[in-house]
Amino acid sequence: MSSRPTVTGSGSATMPESAAITRNSVEELLKEKIRHLSAQPEFQWKEDYTIFEQDSDGSPAVRAAVAVCSADFDLWEGLRNPAKIGVFPAGFREIWEYYAGNRKKRTDASGRATIFQLSEPFEQARKCYNRVRIISALLPLSNEIFSTYNRYVRTKSFAPWDGYCQAWSQGNQLLDRGITRLGMNLSGNERVVVVMNNSTVEKISKEAIPLTRQGVSHGVCKGVNYSQKSIAVLTGLAQFGVSRLVFRDEVVAGGVRRLIGPLRSVVIFESENASAGGDGGDQVLSLSTMWQQKLRDLSDFTVIDSAVNSQRFCTYLAASGERGCGKCLAFCPSGALANSSPDPRGDYPRRLLQQEHRFWQGSLQFDNGSCCDDRGQLKTLYDEWMCGRCLAVCAAEGNRRGEAAEGWEDYRRG
Ligand code: SF4
Ligand code: SF4
Repeated sequence: MSSRPTVTGSGSATMPESAAITRNSVEELLKEKIRHLSAQPEFQWKEDYTIFEQDSDGSPAVRAAVAVCSADFDLWEGLRNPAKIGVFPAGFREIWEYYAGNRKKRTDASGRATIFQLSEPFEQARKCYNRVRIISALLPLSNEIFSTYNRYVRTKSFAPWDGYCQAWSQGNQLLDRGITRLGMNLSGNERVVVVMNNSTVEKISKEAIPLTRQGVSHGVCKGVNYSQKSIAVLTGLAQFGVSRLVFRDEVVAGGVRRLIGPLRSVVIFESENASAGGDGGDQVLSLSTMWQQKLRDLSDFTVIDSAVNSQRFCTYLAASGERGCGKCLAFCPSGALANSSPDPRGDYPRRLLQQEHRFWQGSLQFDNGSCCDDRGQLKTLYDEWMCGRCLAVCAAEGNRRGEAAEGWEDYRRG
C-alpha cells in the first residue's frame, strides 16, 4: 500500500489511515499544509523576504523525525537539564490523561455501560496502546531573516529587529496550525493522536500536572512542562548547542546548511500489533537506552571525547584543527549564556563552581533569571519584544562541522 499522501482539490493533502507514519510521509504532508496555509491572507508576507526557509524546489524546508518507544519510556531521561524543563515534565501518562479527560466514554474499566462519563485511566489504555510514536517537526526561518537580524546584532542595537519579531511569531503560528492539521489527518480508529501545539502544551501544563508540580523546578521556562526542544533532540531531528537552543545541520552542495526555527510535535498512542503500515523501517528511530546515553553525552558540553565531539553540530568545543565558536555567548546581551556554559575546554570556571545552588545532578543550569526575566520585563512593556540574538548569530555565522552534518543520519541509526 502506498504511503504517499494524496492531494485533494482544495490543495490540502491527506494520508490514508493504513499508511505508515514515517519521516518522508510526515514531511511531505506537513509541507503541503504549510504551503496551503501560507497562501491564506493572514499569512501573506509583503516584505522582500520569506518567513520560512525553502528547499531548492521552492517548497517549505520542513524537516521531521519520527521515533517509536514503549508507553513506559521516560521521554526526558538525560534531557531535562539542557531543555530547561525542570524536574516535573509531562510524560506519556500526563499526555494520556489530558487526552482522556477531554474524550470521556460512557463505559467503565470492564467495558460495561454506565450513566457516567469516564476518562480511561492510563494503566488501562496502556494494555491496548502499548507503543508510542513521536513526531517532531521543524519549520526553519529563512536565512535572510537570520542574516538581516545578525547585522542588527552586530551594530549592538539595544532593540531587536521588528522583522525578526514578526517572522518568529508568524512562523510559530504557521507551524502551530500546520501541525494541528497534520494531527487531524493522522487521527483514526486504531490510534490516539495528541497534537502538541502551543495550546495543548499550555493546557497539559495546567490541567494534567498537579498544582504542586506546576512551575516547581530548577529552571522552568515559560511555565510549561513539555519541551519541544528535547523532543526534537530525542527523535534525532536536531541537536542542542551550548546555547541550549537546538538546530539541524545538513550538507548541501559541499557546504553546511543550518536550520533553526519553531518546533512542534505529535504524540501517537498505538498498538504494536495493530500498527497500520508497519513500523516504517529505517525512517523511524527506535528509542533505546544506548541512544539516550549518546544524547546525554552530545548535550553535555563538559564531556570531552573526540568521537562525541566529531558528531556535535555545535562547535563550541573545538576539535583538533578547528577554532572553537562561542559566538552566541559573545553576543548574548544579558550574559545568560556565559553564565550557563563551561569554558571552551569543557571545565566550569571557578566563578560558576562557586554558585552551588545552580547545579542540579552535577550539571550547571541555564541562567533563566538573566535571560527570561529581562526579556519578560521588556515584553511586558513592548509586547512584540523578543531577543533571540543567540539564534540569529548561530544561524548566520556560527561555525559548522561538516563531519557531524554528513554523518548524522548514520550516527542516529547507530
Ligand atoms: S535569548 Fe537573548 S538573552 Fe536569552 S540567551 Fe539568547 S541571546 Fe541571551
Ligand atoms: S553560535 Fe557557535 S557556540 Fe553558539 S550554539 Fe551556535 S555553533 Fe555553538
